[in-house]
Amino acid sequence: MSCCGEKGTVAWVAHGALGLAKAVLGIAAADEKVRAQRTAICQACPHSAKHPTKRSANGLPLVRFCEMCGCLLAAKIRVATERCCAGKWGEQEKLK
Ligand code: SF4
Repeated sequence: MSCCGEKGTVAWVAHGALGLAKAVLGIAAADEKVRAQRTAICQACPHSAKHPTKRSANGLPLVRFCEMCGCLLAAKIRVATERCCAGKWGEQEKLK
């Protein structure tokens, strides 16, 4: 499942909330190798952006999100069923 196919704001928000819940609870968790590969790919991706308002106490950006889908990357990479909207996770998905 990918957030990129969601139609409308309500469906997109529902997908995001479900994804966050899965990430926090460890439901449908991607294994450690997949998470590491996704993290490396997203860190090198120009669509990975620092959240404009979430900041730490010292004012540094706290979280990163995907500009293509709006998902928080820390949660997105943890859920096995998530997919990269740009298809950049394609090669690592074959390694599972
Ligand atoms: S999910 Fe895909 S498009 Fe988004 S930041 Fe990661 S690699 Fe880039």
